[in-house]
Amino acid sequence: MRPPLPRPHRALALAAALALAACHRSEEPPPSTPEPVLAPSPTPTPVPAPPSPPPPPPKPVRTGPTFSFPTDNKALISNDPAAFFMFVDRYNPKDRTTSQVWQGGSYGFVRNARTTTHGEVFTKFHEGIDIAPVTRDPKGEPTDPVRAIADGTVVYTLKPPLTSNYGNYLVVAHPCGPKAGTFYSLYAHLHHIDATVGTTVRRGDQLGVMGHTGAGIDRRRSHLHLEIALLLSEHFDDYYAKHNRSPNGHGNFHGSNLTGIDAAAFLSAAQRDPGLTPADFLKNDQPLWRALVPCRDGAELDIARRYPWLRKPGPPAASWEIALNGAGVPLSIAPSSQPVQFPAVSWVRPSPTSHSWASRNLLSGSGNTATLATEGARYLQLLSGDF
Ligand SMILES: [Zn+2]
Repeated sequence: MRPPLPRPHRALALAAALALAACHRSEEPPPSTPEPVLAPSPTPTPVPAPPSPPPPPPKPVRTGPTFSFPTDNKALISNDPAAFFMFVDRYNPKDRTTSQVWQGGSYGFVRNARTTTHGEVFTKFHEGIDIAPVTRDPKGEPTDPVRAIADGTVVYTLKPPLTSNYGNYLVVAHPCGPKAGTFYSLYAHLHHIDATVGTTVRRGDQLGVMGHTGAGIDRRRSHLHLEIALLLSEHFDDYYAKHNRSPNGHGNFHGSNLTGIDAAAFLSAAQRDPGLTPADFLKNDQPLWRALVPCRDGAELDIARRYPWLRKPGPPAASWEIALNGAGVPLSIAPSSQPVQFPAVSWVRPSPTSHSWASRNLLSGSGNTATLATEGARYLQLLSGDF
């Protein structure tokens, strides 16, 4: 039998035993908490996924030049057309008052209102847009610089003593790619011109200063008349000589040889979609009428060579069917098996009012039928090169 330990030793042994017990306890697993008993969850009913929207069409690759507004007036971007367009004075015969209407400065059938049984019809076509000045000197003369809307080459400047309704004007050619062709910008009513023919210009280069030269314009209504246009013929002098006694001094850059698109709508679209060409822009347009023109000796039309996007597939046939919008802008050219000796209307969008008012007087008739007015026959001769 072991003798009892002296008191201090007993205390040490007790402490050691307690420590050992503590060590043992720390090695034991912690007391487990009982798992909560959960009610069995109901089997979820499968919800059919909503049909996913069709993927957006791939964004077309744009290859054209960048287009900008020609002056510092960019109010169209902030959706303020009244500040962007120069107004016209519109007389109201009912109350014998004259009001200032900005719509008259926009593109299209915006002038010469006529009251018909179908309401008010605007019969005069404005082929460009009238951009209001943003700066004037103390005398009220506009001082806005006018700049090239895209890279290009100056191809025409009006030289005294020649005159024009356009006043001092110039034209810049903008090559937009092999498929789109070359489009033209025309800047009219300038105070003076700062560019010379043959000069290569970059977008934003100054071409002149805004003014009020030309017909139907005064200092109060000073503006830049801008057109963005297709060239109808490369032989305009010959065409002009057939219908006029006085010589054409403007070569191919006479206003009648340039058919304008909606410059405001195009420039706005080109800000949202850089590289958009006028040809891309016109793809969304709808024809108002179609006409057949002769296909001579199976030859392609010159205009289809300059603007290949116009040409629908198929070999040359008996005639060409040209689709045009209300402004007379060609939208497509397709071979047709129907022979014609002279231009003739093949289709028109039905209208209760006179086709003349919707076609810039190129057509006559109403309803489902239309015939070519003298102006329309001449216009198609010019467009098709058959004169
Ligand atoms: Zn104008």
